[in-house]
Amino acid sequence: MKLLKFTAIIVVALTFAQCEQENEIIDSIDTIIQDNETIDKIAKLGFDTKNYPVLKDGEYFTVEGDINILADDIEKININNQNIQSKQRRFPLEFIVSCEQIRYITVFNNLPNNSPARGAVNLAMQHWNDIDKCDIRFAATSNINSAEIIISKGPLVGAVGKGSFPTGGKPGKYIRLDLDQFSFLDYGRWRTVIEHELGHNIGFAHSDDIAENGAILISGTPSNDSNSIMFSGISNFNRTLNGDDKKAARLMYNLNFSDRLCN
Ligand SMILES: [Zn+2]
Repeated sequence: MKLLKFTAIIVVALTFAQCEQENEIIDSIDTIIQDNETIDKIAKLGFDTKNYPVLKDGEYFTVEGDINILADDIEKININNQNIQSKQRRFPLEFIVSCEQIRYITVFNNLPNNSPARGAVNLAMQHWNDIDKCDIRFAATSNINSAEIIISKGPLVGAVGKGSFPTGGKPGKYIRLDLDQFSFLDYGRWRTVIEHELGHNIGFAHSDDIAENGAILISGTPSNDSNSIMFSGISNFNRTLNGDDKKAARLMYNLNFSDRLCN
């Protein structure tokens, strides 16, 4: 879930950079990329690159503040081959979990015991699992090595939490939450953030994406929805999956539905 607009992100980035010089507590920081070809490609996929800088986070690019996409996946995409139609909810091809994988997604909760976020993970998973006529199933695991999603704490630039998009038909591997900077958030708010980031990890985009083209709007869902769990802002912090989120999830991942979007 993203927090700050472009200029604020730069201020935060500079602040972090200054901290880094003064002491070595923060050993890495997302950097803003300037490569116009990459930025252009990401914009053509429907992400807002005007209001949010594209960041480099290890082997990922961070777009729209809180979505990590493997840099290799961006490289591989041939924009001209994409059936790019509309704005939001779902991104094409590479960024969707295969039908086979959606029924059992193991999640390792690596958050500290003393954080309310740790306890909120199960309820966030359950909300996705409880969607009627939908086959998404998150399952807690105690084995970090085999886990498909690992939820950890970590410093972020301009975001409360950060998810990652699916790659190779598998869910995004990481969710990170900035527990230190947002230590004042309670259980319910963390539940909202985690539910939102889990959505990214199974291929859902922001419900308020302002890009003019790019991602595919899931048929019958609104093109802009501030009550969606996938709304990017934090102004309405006690959201959960609404009717249109559930509809989108069914169209993506109801395995009994012959026109489902996963394959
Ligand atoms: Zn988000």
